[in-house]
Amino acid sequence: MDKENLPDRDAGANGYQKIDRYNPELISNLSAHYKDVLSQIGEDPTREGLLRTPERIAKAMLFLTQGYDLDAKVIMDSAMFKEEYSQMVVVKDIEVYSMCEHHMLPFFGKAHVAYIPNGYVVGLSKIPRVVDVFARRLQVQERLTNEIRDCIQNTLNPYGVGVVIECRHLCMSMRGVQKQNSVTTTSAFTGEFLKEKTRTEFLNLISAKLG
Ligand SMILES: [Zn+2]
Repeated sequence: MDKENLPDRDAGANGYQKIDRYNPELISNLSAHYKDVLSQIGEDPTREGLLRTPERIAKAMLFLTQGYDLDAKVIMDSAMFKEEYSQMVVVKDIEVYSMCEHHMLPFFGKAHVAYIPNGYVVGLSKIPRVVDVFARRLQVQERLTNEIRDCIQNTLNPYGVGVVIECRHLCMSMRGVQKQNSVTTTSAFTGEFLKEKTRTEFLNLISAKLG
């Protein structure tokens, strides 16, 4: 479907607002497909408990993939400030909820993001927003990690960016190998963070517990 036919989803096209209104035609199309899926897996989509389920799935999926309509660069540009601070800035324990592109099952955990300012800083609340923009799409954890790194590097132009993401993948724990407690860790670095000393400082900061 052409994006231009989706005015309501485009309500967030300024890269900022939460998508909380949905295009009725899109919802109805998606619902029909999900109703068919329910039948195909052996359910009865006309039984009471499932009557509104296709519509609920459609809305949930649009919420979980709202990142396609958002522009992380716009979010960053909206809150960059000139500032002489040049020490490492770390935002840790950012909640991540995404879906793997291979099974459309959730993966979730934490992201830790750091950068070393080169004349500009960004409002701290924007970093979790950027994580969300890339997480609310079909993803693989490796690409998610790189996209967050590249977005911050290309907008703020800092001396370096470090991103570490730790997630559990339901496609691993609910099916297949069923390693219930395995956590996948990915990392991506630029600039100063390619040096061992800086990277070690970052890794120490994100593993330290407060209080
Ligand atoms: Zn998967």
